[in-house]
Amino acid sequence: MRALTGHPLRPVTEMSPQRVLLVNLACMGAPALLIIQGVLQHGKVDWFAAGLGCITLFALVALRMFDLVSQVHDKARQLDAVAHIDALTALPNRRAWDLELSRRIAAARRHGSPVVVAILDLDHFKKYNDEHGHQGGDNLLSSAAAAWRGQLRPEDLLARYGGEEFGAIFDQSKLADADRIIERLQAVNPLGQTFSAGAAQWNGSETAEELLARADVALYAAKAAGRNRVYVSSIR
Ligand code: GH3
Ligand code: MG
Ligand code: MG
Repeated sequence: MRALTGHPLRPVTEMSPQRVLLVNLACMGAPALLIIQGVLQHGKVDWFAAGLGCITLFALVALRMFDLVSQVHDKARQLDAVAHIDALTALPNRRAWDLELSRRIAAARRHGSPVVVAILDLDHFKKYNDEHGHQGGDNLLSSAAAAWRGQLRPEDLLARYGGEEFGAIFDQSKLADADRIIERLQAVNPLGQTFSAGAAQWNGSETAEELLARADVALYAAKAAGRNRVYVSSIR
């Protein structure tokens, strides 16, 4: 969202066929003048006016090209941001999560820093949807996302993993910190709802999928144990 809202996009100016024709005619003005003068005045041409006209036109075309190229850059930036943001919660989406988790594991491999992930899953969300309607469910998802995000540091990642599941990466934290951080998130759950979580710390060699699978097993254990709690997977 920062990338989207940071620099407002300029409106793209419409290029109507008439406008394209006008630009083309204007570009031909100077060379046409040269030819006409050359024919009518037997080779005696106003080289200064024609040269100045060409330079002016070239400068205008170059300016327009520069403007179009920066519009394309703006659009590419906008597309990139949209492709990595969940429309409902404005959190990074699953695609952004996958990229960021791999990036952080690669960094941890180089620097030996810890990577702790948690999967958060709202409890009995289907029931909440049934009681409050789909729109009510959507509102809960977006307010929970905003409340949790507010409790995390900017370096931490919170992403919408899918449906009513969220993924978190706690930056530079150990597994022992995960409990405390998740407790902070539990404390701001909106509308009296709860979530269960499974956390796991990267063991130094496993893949992102293996790490997530361990967090997932911990999450299911937390659900089975009665929900509204966090379980951690011991480092293997
Ligand atoms: P549990 O405590 O075991 O996690 O139960 P649950 O009801 O939360 O889990 P379950 O997987 O049975 O249901 C998830 C529900 O989430 C079902 C689906 O309709 C709903 N859901 C998924 N995505 C969205 C969404 O974007 N908006 C809304 N309103 N509902 C969603
Ligand atoms: Mg679920
Ligand atoms: Mg659920």
